[in-house]
Amino acid sequence: MKFVSTRGQSPAVSFLEAVALGLAPDGGLYLPEALPDLSPRLRGWGELSYADLCAEFMGVFATDVTEDVLARLVRRSYGTFSHPEIAPLRRLDDNVYVLELFHGPTLAFKDFALQLLGNLYGWHCEQTGRSLNVLGATSGDTGAAAIHGLLGKPRTAIFILYPDGRVSPLQERQMACTGAANVFALALDGTFDDAQRLLKDAFGDRAFADPLHLSAVNSINLARVLAQCVYYLHAWLRVPEAQRENVEFVVPTGNFGNVFAGWLLERMGVPIAGFKVATNQNDILHRFFTTGEYRVGTVQPSLAPSMDIQVASNFERWLYYHFEEDAAQVRAAMDELKRTGATRVPRFDAHVFSSSRSTDADITANIRRIHARYGYVLDPHTACGFQELNPARTSVVLATAHPAKFPEALRAAIEIEPTHPALEALKARPLAKHALPVDLAQLKAFIRAHGV
Ligand SMILES: *Cc1c(COP(=O)(O)O)cnc(C)c1O
Repeated sequence: MKFVSTRGQSPAVSFLEAVALGLAPDGGLYLPEALPDLSPRLRGWGELSYADLCAEFMGVFATDVTEDVLARLVRRSYGTFSHPEIAPLRRLDDNVYVLELFHGPTLAFKDFALQLLGNLYGWHCEQTGRSLNVLGATSGDTGAAAIHGLLGKPRTAIFILYPDGRVSPLQERQMACTGAANVFALALDGTFDDAQRLLKDAFGDRAFADPLHLSAVNSINLARVLAQCVYYLHAWLRVPEAQRENVEFVVPTGNFGNVFAGWLLERMGVPIAGFKVATNQNDILHRFFTTGEYRVGTVQPSLAPSMDIQVASNFERWLYYHFEEDAAQVRAAMDELKRTGATRVPRFDAHVFSSSRSTDADITANIRRIHARYGYVLDPHTACGFQELNPARTSVVLATAHPAKFPEALRAAIEIEPTHPALEALKARPLAKHALPVDLAQLKAFIRAHGV
């Protein structure tokens, strides 16, 4: 299978090429040249374990990796998870399920994509004898998950930019206390959007990026989107059959990567009834899905920091399909957004999407309400998903992080401070972070000095 850029001005590439490149040379994001129809395969996939389902699904796209290698990389990736079902589906009542995506090494859903991406990178370096410098920006969980995907892998180095003071102390420890020599946690004196802009500029400087084999690990990598499709599929296959076609996935959303993956599955013939885009007070996507106007505001730090985002990078992938795969219209919309800070989508029809917005007070109220009603403890991101569930649907709310990652918010809401042994172990280890201003030249110098 080949993959094309949303901007239409780069050649089509193979799966491994798209994974290695991250961002397409024309500034666009990679998507399959044509989406497969998965509907004939669904019946046969119902009984597969998570790892087997993932290998089957990825095999449809990664046609330049042999089945054996793919199966091995997938098993290794999900072998680091602490729950035997990998992504257990918990029933709260007849119409409300929670899909627990926090049993990976960093206790957030990003491990699903980044364990696999790390193993793909490691295998690619082994095959080609090349080295790889990975650069990412994080508002919290991405960085930790990316780091744990590449921890100690030979011929790789990973540099993660994060807004200093805007990630939780535990998230920071997950990045800066690994003790691994190939890991660099860069504490930026700025916001997450500053970090993302620096990252785009670094990748845009070809004379800098190319010789270093610089690769992206933020939510734009094609492999991440595809790996994230798998847990939607796995969960959908576990909902009682009579309810399956009425399932609405409720997705705590920042960058639009997670919910886009689910929606892509629907485009590939899985009959999912709807997707609810659940934002925190940084509600650009909620405003978009209610008005058709995508207007960038300023980031307000919230209780759900991994969703404190105003420029949802994967949104461009959705636009590509909305414009019926017309890359010229995507370019025009992205240009307008860059020039004016806003774009309006013509003939806008949200179709399967609905949306909600949660203030910090809503987050706290939702944590309390769900704990009182079901005895179930939500993290602040997952709590955004419990804002206004649609009673006409079977809701599957994605639990994107383990509540133990946010002890202060939980204590404030329900006077319980959940713990997790993996996090307790981190508290005793030394913190190794590098402070950086929002300055491209200094970032480049650091990477040149420490890269492989
Ligand atoms: C990253 C993250 C999100 C947002 O996911 P996107 O793919 O960026 O929309 C939500 N919750 C948690 C815990 C996260 O780490």
